[in-house]
Amino acid sequence: MKLAILSRAPRSYSTQRLRTAALDRGHEVKVLNTLRFGIDLSGDEPDLQFRGKRLSHYDAVLPRIGNSITYFGTAVVRQFEQMDVYTPNTSWGITNSRDKLRATQILSRHHIGMPATTFVRDRADVIAAIERVGGAPVVIKLLEGTQGIGVILAPTIKVAEAIIETLHSTRQNVLIQRFVSESKGRDIRALVVGDRVVAAMRRVAQGDEFRSNVHRGGTVEAVTLDEDYERAAVRAAQIMGLRVAGVDMLEGNEGPLVMEVNSSPGLEGIERATDLDIAGSIIDHIDNQVAFPEIDVRQR
Ligand code: ADP
Repeated sequence: MKLAILSRAPRSYSTQRLRTAALDRGHEVKVLNTLRFGIDLSGDEPDLQFRGKRLSHYDAVLPRIGNSITYFGTAVVRQFEQMDVYTPNTSWGITNSRDKLRATQILSRHHIGMPATTFVRDRADVIAAIERVGGAPVVIKLLEGTQGIGVILAPTIKVAEAIIETLHSTRQNVLIQRFVSESKGRDIRALVVGDRVVAAMRRVAQGDEFRSNVHRGGTVEAVTLDEDYERAAVRAAQIMGLRVAGVDMLEGNEGPLVMEVNSSPGLEGIERATDLDIAGSIIDHIDNQVAFPEIDVRQR
């Protein structure tokens, strides 16, 4: 097949691994800088420009859209969809997974275990909202934070109120979420490809930090997931319209609690922790879908 990887970081570990895995399997592959596309809407048929020239035909596209270019990047992916080029992650899925509130709203309709979460805007409603999710300590999250930035553990209702008020005053929207203390600074990242978990790791926070992000000094170890964790991860990815996804889960007393579904999961940490060829699994999945297409009603 002929595959385009959309990425602004051609030399990054993940892009390199995906490119090499495609080449090793005899595919034609190009890494294209997402920001160099032009979307032309004047012709009869949808098409795309790349670096000022009409893009040649591709069988599939693998979007790796960074947070800072979600709007433009998803517009490019949407154009590929209109040109009937297969993408494992739809523009719809990428957009929805970027916004923590929107993602939580979508998942909550499908009985996926999640930490109790509320969203309020008026100052007068903040205390009741905190109490609804179980009181302090409580987690406060910026809607579009990544790498643990904008995720705060407030020890008391008073502090939580002050933080939320400050954030609201700077026009930031925040989620209020139950602090899942039993997870003790640990979380699970499951890499979903198609309808299975191809790799999983546990991230453990350093010292008294409650956030287990590797960017915050968290360490990683390979894990074999119980069936309920695998099922939650695959279902969450599917509901979000993502066939390649990194699903983050807390280990709650009653089982998995999905926190987030990432549409461009990094491969370096998880491949090193598990010694698995995840890039290869992703390429094989795309190849399989190109050869034997599945109808996804959401793309039509
Ligand atoms: P980001 O997208 O910035 O990584 P997350 O929502 O994944 O933000 O939160 C970052 C980290 O904080 C998680 O990996 C987890 O370790 C911890 N965390 C997040 N939410 C909770 C929660 N409700 N209870 C306990 N720990 C949490």
